[in-house]
Amino acid sequence: MPGEGDPRAELLFLGEAPGEVEDETGRPFQGRSGKEFERLLGLAGLGRGEVFVTGVVKCRPPNNRRPRRDEMGTCRRAHLDRQLDVIRPRLVVLMGGVAVEEVLEEKGPLADFAGRFIERDGRRCFVTYHPAASMRFPSVKRLAERHFRRLRRER
Ligand code: URA
Repeated sequence: MPGEGDPRAELLFLGEAPGEVEDETGRPFQGRSGKEFERLLGLAGLGRGEVFVTGVVKCRPPNNRRPRRDEMGTCRRAHLDRQLDVIRPRLVVLMGGVAVEEVLEEKGPLADFAGRFIERDGRRCFVTYHPAASMRFPSVKRLAERHFRRLRRER
């Protein structure tokens, strides 16, 4: 699952890794979390075609486990860093703990970073929750909605 969208997008949305459907189709955010992602994106006044969407890891980890550190690093160097160099988005939206851990090199609780614009290695990032978490927890959903509405105003 390499990711997809506008190769000249100003915003790049970064998730975790493909799930089963994403791995089969080679397209990001196709399942239920894809619906939630599109709904949130709508709150930012955006559609999929206007942004680029991908994950830190491009292959599905067995049994949907969290990608390991070495897998994240390998995939980032082989693919994500190059995607960022080619697309050169104005803003990288980090969705969830895996994206934060790999791009910001921060391991603390996601709540410490969520809703913040953070500059790292010359890249402007904004941190929010993963759509799967937004789907599952009403309190996270409210925060994620706030973050995506904020992206409509400031981006
Ligand atoms: N990252 C995710 O977390 N999910 C996807 O479907 C694609 C990338």
